[in-house]
Amino acid sequence: MTLDKKTLEELRTTLLKEKEELEKNLGKIARPIDKEEGDYETTFSEIGTDKEDNATEVDQYTQNLSVENTLEKKLQDVLDALERFENGTYGKCENCDKEIPLERLKANPSARTCIKCK
Ligand SMILES: [Zn+2]
Repeated sequence: MTLDKKTLEELRTTLLKEKEELEKNLGKIARPIDKEEGDYETTFSEIGTDKEDNATEVDQYTQNLSVENTLEKKLQDVLDALERFENGTYGKCENCDKEIPLERLKANPSARTCIKCK
């Protein structure tokens, strides 16, 4: 591992901030099923019983569902990266096991693979 302690700590801090932010945003549209795993379920808010209201609710729900999926995926990447810090495999490509260049990690600390395997 060529990453020094300071750099690692910075990346970890970035990831933790990202995690917090993602959980906050997810909390607005979804409820956690398994927070440890980053598993969320989109909530369906019932505004009213009117037909028009219902249409809006469905629209909103469909929209939330897609946002939730994106956020959830991102959160799982972040959680996964944090887990790799724990077991000391952070910074390695999941595919070819080579080290992910620092520039890439800085741009995207939760990157799972190197640029070649992307
Ligand atoms: Zn690779």
